[in-house]
Amino acid sequence: MAYPTLGLHIDGEWIGPEGHQVRPVVDPATGAVLADLPLAGQVDLDRALAAAARGFERWRRTPPQHRGAVLKEAARLLRERAEHIAVTATLEQGKAVRESRVEVAISANLLEWAGEETTRLYGRVLARPGGTRSLVLRQPVGPVAAFAPWNFPIANPARKLASALAAGCSVILKPAEETPGAAIEVLRALVDAGLPPGVAQLVFGVPDQVSRHLLASPVIRKVSFTGSVAVGRHLMRLAADGLLRTTMELGGHAPVLVFADADLEHALDVLVAGKYRNAGQVCVAPTRFYVQEGVLDTFVDGFLARVARLRVGHGLDEQTVMGPVANPRRDESLHQLVTDAQERGATRLTGGRRAGLFWDPVVLTEVPPDARIMVEEPFGPVASISSFRTLDEAIALANRLPYALAAFAWSESARTVLAVGDGVEAGMVGINTDRISGADSPFGGMKHSGHGSEDGPEGIEAYLATKAIHQS
Ligand code: NAD
Repeated sequence: MAYPTLGLHIDGEWIGPEGHQVRPVVDPATGAVLADLPLAGQVDLDRALAAAARGFERWRRTPPQHRGAVLKEAARLLRERAEHIAVTATLEQGKAVRESRVEVAISANLLEWAGEETTRLYGRVLARPGGTRSLVLRQPVGPVAAFAPWNFPIANPARKLASALAAGCSVILKPAEETPGAAIEVLRALVDAGLPPGVAQLVFGVPDQVSRHLLASPVIRKVSFTGSVAVGRHLMRLAADGLLRTTMELGGHAPVLVFADADLEHALDVLVAGKYRNAGQVCVAPTRFYVQEGVLDTFVDGFLARVARLRVGHGLDEQTVMGPVANPRRDESLHQLVTDAQERGATRLTGGRRAGLFWDPVVLTEVPPDARIMVEEPFGPVASISSFRTLDEAIALANRLPYALAAFAWSESARTVLAVGDGVEAGMVGINTDRISGADSPFGGMKHSGHGSEDGPEGIEAYLATKAIHQS
């Protein structure tokens, strides 16, 4: 199956590499160059801004039913093209193709759900004396600059486009330069579904140049970013100059609290699969495992037994459960974090660096709390397991970091479940489950994990401005 032809998409036109600087896109499993990606220059970005301004005026006036029909047709096309898109994502990102297929399905659901929601963007009529009217309208905020990372090459772009387009905004989307093919296929589905020119542009480039240029423009009214805390902070500073609205999804360091009364077998099945999904490069991945004393040894034994069965290989091999990490930055960063943990006294029970960008799943125990991996987002296939004694201690451990995206707990006790739900600081809490997202459910964090939600009504709300109109 062929890797897609790469290009920018501006004002309804696909723009190839001619006359542009390019960068290679590489298969992380083999190091092979898949294609050359054209990079947008200032002229391209200015064209994209002008097109987004025109596209917004057109799209905001498009009947919501029509906007919804385009989104739902794009969902259908994604499902029809699922295999091609899944293979594309695996080639450029490395993940197991069975995961890429799930990602296509999730992306189609996001587009479809947002498409249904376009007719439910209600305002209010306030109670006022006869002969007067006071209305509260919800209107699209304006052209959006959106930045999506490489870890979910299909779903990250789909998520940003679905909500913004449902709300009636136009978009300039910059997906990660490492994984452009899947994003192009998501946009292609929207274009083929009838999205008018100018409503969504796709640009690639030098990230800092692109974001500085777009955020300095008076055309842009809102920034949506998914990525690291450092880049999020940087973009918020840029956004401050234009007083732009922001949605920031900045990663996590999810605690997992496993209580002695948990169904351990079920917890282990779910948690080991969840930990090493996408080679751990998931912002909501279970990361710090805190297990109640008394069941620690059983938990670790069960964890290791399941890890031993995980098959590492090229993502296109149907038997593969875990592919390589997505780029050399991850490989190097993981190497440093695991080395630092061991130097500080952690025990590595299994796993480690293999050839190329491949890792065997790593399990660490006795990791001191000040080890870098217990503080920084590892974003890789490493589980750190330690113990706790009491419920209060467990909640304090869960809340000890500035990250607050996802948290998980496993217990059969209603009292424990209530206390965890109330006490753990996180945008999403999974109790006896790792399923914490869905097209109808808000996805986002607290504290340094960012602010604002994506998906669900809250995700569309983030692209709407409030206007009160008083008539007499
Ligand atoms: P990075 O911080 O360099 O980049 C993260 C993402 O932001 C990339 O997609 C990149 O293209 C984009 N980016 C970088 N600089 C930008 C700028 N000035 N303007 C706009 N976009 C910009 O890190 P990385 O090496 O790609 O990933 C490493 C870390 O990023 C991970 O350890 C993880 O903490 C975080 N991350 C988080 C998520 C998430 O889902 N929240 C996804 C990917 C990466």
